[in-house]
Amino acid sequence: MTGGSPSANPGAAPGVVALRGPVLSFSARPADERSAGVDHLPDGVVIMRDGRLETVMAADAYRRQGGDPDACEDLRDSLIVPGLIDLHIHCPQMDVIASYGSQLLDWLERYAYPAELAFADPEHARSQCGRFLDRLAAHGTTSALVLGTVHAAATDALFDEAARRRVRLAAGKVLMNRHGPRALRDRTDGIDETAALIERWHGRDRLAYAVTPRFAIACSEDQLRGAGKLLERYPGVYLHTHLAEHPEELAATARTFPDAADYVGVYERFGLVGPQSVFAHGIHLSDSELGRLGAAGATIAFCPSSNLFLGSGLLDLARVDRAGVNLGVATDVGAGTSFSMLSTLADGYRVAQLTSTSWHPLTALYTATLGNARALGWDGRVGRLAPGHEADVVVLSPHPDSVLADRLRLASSLTDTVFAYLMLGGDAVSRTYVAGRPVYRREAG
Ligand SMILES: [Zn+2]
Repeated sequence: MTGGSPSANPGAAPGVVALRGPVLSFSARPADERSAGVDHLPDGVVIMRDGRLETVMAADAYRRQGGDPDACEDLRDSLIVPGLIDLHIHCPQMDVIASYGSQLLDWLERYAYPAELAFADPEHARSQCGRFLDRLAAHGTTSALVLGTVHAAATDALFDEAARRRVRLAAGKVLMNRHGPRALRDRTDGIDETAALIERWHGRDRLAYAVTPRFAIACSEDQLRGAGKLLERYPGVYLHTHLAEHPEELAATARTFPDAADYVGVYERFGLVGPQSVFAHGIHLSDSELGRLGAAGATIAFCPSSNLFLGSGLLDLARVDRAGVNLGVATDVGAGTSFSMLSTLADGYRVAQLTSTSWHPLTALYTATLGNARALGWDGRVGRLAPGHEADVVVLSPHPDSVLADRLRLASSLTDTVFAYLMLGGDAVSRTYVAGRPVYRREAG
């Protein structure tokens, strides 16, 4: 790791944050800690200036260049990593997390849809969107690909709150005109409303738009066709939806689209499968479907805590990899059971174990940082700690007297350390910086 020329006492300057501690990020997907893509500084210096990373280098090298590492804030009992990225999360479902007792379609009806209906009230939506973004920050998540609700005003509120916080965020109004309660359906096809939202928000500040059909069975053929036309009309916007999550949804999809050869074929027919497409789940897919997703450059967002919670199934990571499909990772709150990407990676490890795959902790952490950034074309901007990148940074620190603190004292390698943070560190985020500004700081203890 390189970069930046040192200045005396950088932490004292306005708009500057200077930290010292172990630093870990990735420049490529690692297989293990010896991989070339692992950028690890056991004692590093990270300096953020005016929203960007100015310096990321070893403390010794910094001193040789005339800098004073002792003038930086001492976080040598912590681990400094890139801001985490959540590739699939539902803003309006934040408060129905951990709702008991049902599988996907029933869970949506009982819990998710009532919470989404409440977003018809713009004041409620704005307040919830602000709380949602604060909640992400408190869990070290600095960027996300977010589903809103069917309501355009609520989607405006989400973008507006993200802009105020300078968060790099992709989001979209849900398209849904034939599923769920009548009051939660688009009255028309929702396409003109979506186009207006794209014009208003896509490319503004750090924001991007994702055309968001809820899932195939929630949309008429005309609505799906309209979504495809939006992708043609606005290159650069994303396609974000669900795919092959739960067996009962698969059966409903086959009934609704009897002419389609398979589930991916439904989305292909309307021009929705490409390199800008992110499909949550993708658990129950044939070899042909996975191969076509891989050839198209599409991404599957692995949502392990949600899949375990709803009993949806186990994504076979090795099979996804063999098919050449990009893999991202996501909480899928509210069906996901934690906002923490670290806890989500721990659940991902467990799911992999059940499909006879060992998900290396560094590969997992890469996926939640640079991997998810790449899925959104944001590499070079976020997902990595390197000079010139946007300064989205997270500090992980064990609570004193915690199981994690005890476990870390025994850690014998970088892999061991990171694995302990994943398995035990759901509350280990002690600082979050967005564009170089502190947005979360844990109380002491
Ligand atoms: Zn979802």
